[in-house]
Amino acid sequence: MAYGVTDGQPMVRTRFAPSPTGELHIGSVRTALFSWLAAKHAGGQFYIRLEDTDQERYVAGSTRRILETFDWLGIRLDGGPDHATLRRMKTDEDYPGALEDGSYQGIPGPFIQSQRLPVYQQWAGWLIEHGYAYRASETAEEIEHMRAEAMARKETFRFREEMRLRTDVRPDEPHVVRMRIVPRQGVTRFHDLVKGDVAFENANLDDQVLIKADGFPTYHLAVVVDDHLQGVSLALRGDDWLSSAPKHVLLFQYFGWDMPQLAHVPNVLGDDSRKLSKRHGATSVFELRDQGYLPEAVINFLSLLGWAPGEGDEQNVFTIPELISKFDVNHIGSSPAVFSPTKLDWLNGVHIRRLSEDDLTQRLIPIVREAGIALDTAEQLDKLRRAVPLIQERMKTLLDAVPLIDFMFFDIAVPTREALTGQKMDEAESLEALRQTRDLLAQLPEFENAPMEQAMRALADRLHLKPRQLFTIVRNAVTGKDVTPPLFGTLSVIGRAATLQRLDRAVGVLER
Ligand code: GLU
Repeated sequence: MAYGVTDGQPMVRTRFAPSPTGELHIGSVRTALFSWLAAKHAGGQFYIRLEDTDQERYVAGSTRRILETFDWLGIRLDGGPDHATLRRMKTDEDYPGALEDGSYQGIPGPFIQSQRLPVYQQWAGWLIEHGYAYRASETAEEIEHMRAEAMARKETFRFREEMRLRTDVRPDEPHVVRMRIVPRQGVTRFHDLVKGDVAFENANLDDQVLIKADGFPTYHLAVVVDDHLQGVSLALRGDDWLSSAPKHVLLFQYFGWDMPQLAHVPNVLGDDSRKLSKRHGATSVFELRDQGYLPEAVINFLSLLGWAPGEGDEQNVFTIPELISKFDVNHIGSSPAVFSPTKLDWLNGVHIRRLSEDDLTQRLIPIVREAGIALDTAEQLDKLRRAVPLIQERMKTLLDAVPLIDFMFFDIAVPTREALTGQKMDEAESLEALRQTRDLLAQLPEFENAPMEQAMRALADRLHLKPRQLFTIVRNAVTGKDVTPPLFGTLSVIGRAATLQRLDRAVGVLER
């Protein structure tokens, strides 16, 4: 059996059905995440189906990017396009992370609609045979003319069977297949898990094209046929599709198929209440990745865009297993969610602090390299490893690490006299303080955090300085920055030789 309803279907099976028309919007990823969480919460399956039936809007490379998005997020698919089907796409969309066998969990593929055309044609034929669809051959110009006339009469244009200019269209001449709205009067009702009970007047539905002149199905036929054949139990999608749902409900009724549950989720908006766009910063998950956000923080953040654990539960920070166990479609809100960059930063900081030092080190390696810091030798890698506990508390994004550690790897610019002159100190006093620091650090038996701090506090005392006065000029002399991770830990990572050399240079600046 090439296509069919799987036997022994799990209770919950959800899908994400993007069209490969460009970069996946963050709002769509959020919707996909809800679908995935709904399935995993119920111990069910989640798969991806590519809806590439609109050949004009097809963008090369977007399928691969879509699949890579899920790889980066760490979301494992229970079905989806595999190497062979990806290679057969209009542009070769194969990539190393693709599934070996897309239907390995028993969900029938292929998962790319352009590779399922005979299935849609077969079911369109069934609809024609049973009186639920008809062939129509009006040209684009003829339809345009009808639309203009309707507009002139100030009417909304809806194509109806009675408007056909030719009624006996043969299967072998160019035509589209349109759905018949049965009954023409009355109301189509359904229950939506987010919107509640919804009703649409049949009189307002048009005779939707189901198969286009090029033989491709439209979204409406393909989504119904595939959701059925692939055993989808919950179709969760953006609420811009709500007005299409009554047509789908009718098609399910015509075919005599059980409906999946429907959940139409609100859009994601920017903080000015407009649809999230470039103006608001990131609109793709890859931008977030490149800005140093962790996948687990992005998942946590996106899951809260329109969902909350429920009345009285104020939890905001979730691990992925916690999300899976708490997620409930019935708690998806019905008003649009607002993307707050501040909340994302906060959550990312929390998730960074939850990482083990080793894990954080591993995640920083590519970013630090990207910033031009070599990590080729064991010594360089060890430096990074020792810097990690010093910076972990201070980061909102992984990129924040770079300015916190670069001076541990590179020499710094020669500090100015101002930077080396302490608060309420003159140049002579500052010079003396730096000289004594240099001597003290040169003689310290262990170049480590605690002994260094103790000795330096004692020195500040002897010089009648506040510790902060002394530490600030030492920090400026050795790191070239006035904000760094804790000073003595930092010096010990920089190492004694480089620390003394920078102190000598600072002394030289003030001696001039
Ligand atoms: N292909 C549609 C989209 O790109 C899918 C809608 C649905 O999930 O039914 O949004």
